[in-house]
Parts: sequence; structure tokens; C-alpha cells
Amino acid sequence: MSSRSEKERFWAKVDKSGDCWIWTAYVLPVGYGQFGIRKTKMALAHRYAYEDAIGPIPDGLDIDHMCHNRKCVNPAHLRAVTRKQNLENHSGANRTNLSGVRNVHFHKATQRYAVSVTHNGKSHYGGSFARLEEAAAAAKALRLSLHTHNDADRIPVTVKEDQSVRSERAEPESNL
Ligand SMILES: [Zn+2]
Repeated sequence: MSSRSEKERFWAKVDKSGDCWIWTAYVLPVGYGQFGIRKTKMALAHRYAYEDAIGPIPDGLDIDHMCHNRKCVNPAHLRAVTRKQNLENHSGANRTNLSGVRNVHFHKATQRYAVSVTHNGKSHYGGSFARLEEAAAAAKALRLSLHTHNDADRIPVTVKEDQSVRSERAEPESNL
């Protein structure tokens, strides 16, 4: 069998000089490396690396790049996930707001959840939190406090006073 030389051939095409192990041979237009096992059989490089280093990929599971680097074949950066989990992880890499919670924005750079509520055209900052649950609670509290202030602001006392003042003034004016 030529399986040993096949593995050697595979790993010889990998640049392990960095944290991500980069596939240096053919890369598909979608960004994944491709490895020719035999003339008629091709494998995705990261899947080959996973199976070689970790074991067979369970039926129906995708191999997800935790490092978001599709050319990477470092088994430590790979994990078997369901298709749904994989899509969630991909969207997490691309979207700017990924909390799914109103007024809560996940900041990738800091890995924290920031709270901001826009009220009457003005943005109110509610802090940043390590946990989504804390951020969601803070967002709710901030909305409630803004709405409470808003209700107080909207009691039309001044309008009524103006009208009554005007009508009181109107009567003496008509008497003049
Ligand atoms: Zn990597």
C-alpha cells in the first residue's frame, strides 16, 4: 500500500511555519485546498488533514475552520460541526452585529457585547459586557429608563397651560 507515502505527500504540501498550517498546493476557487489522493480521487485538504490527525469525519458533519482561514489544515484549528453550526460560525465571521438581541452589538475585536439604545435620535451607551445575558438585561433596563423619562417628558402640561393662559388672556383682551 502507498498510504504512508500518500500522507507524506500531503504534509509535504503544508507550510507549518505559522500558527495556521497553510496548504501550498492547488486551492479551489472557494478557498479550500484540494489534494489529489489518486488520479481519480480528490479530497479537500482540510478534511484530509482532520481525518489523518483526528479520525474519520462523522456522516453529515462539516469540518469548520475555527481560525476562518480556509487554506489552513492545522488539525488544532479544525472541528467537526453540523451544517447549521458551521453556517452560524461563518455568519459570525462576516456580520458586524451578531448578537441577535435588540440593542446589543457583538464586537469581534474585544469579544464583548456592547449596549446602545437610540432614543429621540440620540444614541445612549449602556456599557459593554462579557456575557450576552448581561448585555440583554442592560439593554432592557436602558430602554425602560429612557421610556420612563420619555413619558415624563411627554406629559403635555406646558401645552395645556399655554392654552389656558391664552384663553384667559383672550377674555380680558375682548373686554378691552
Ligand atoms: Zn488555522
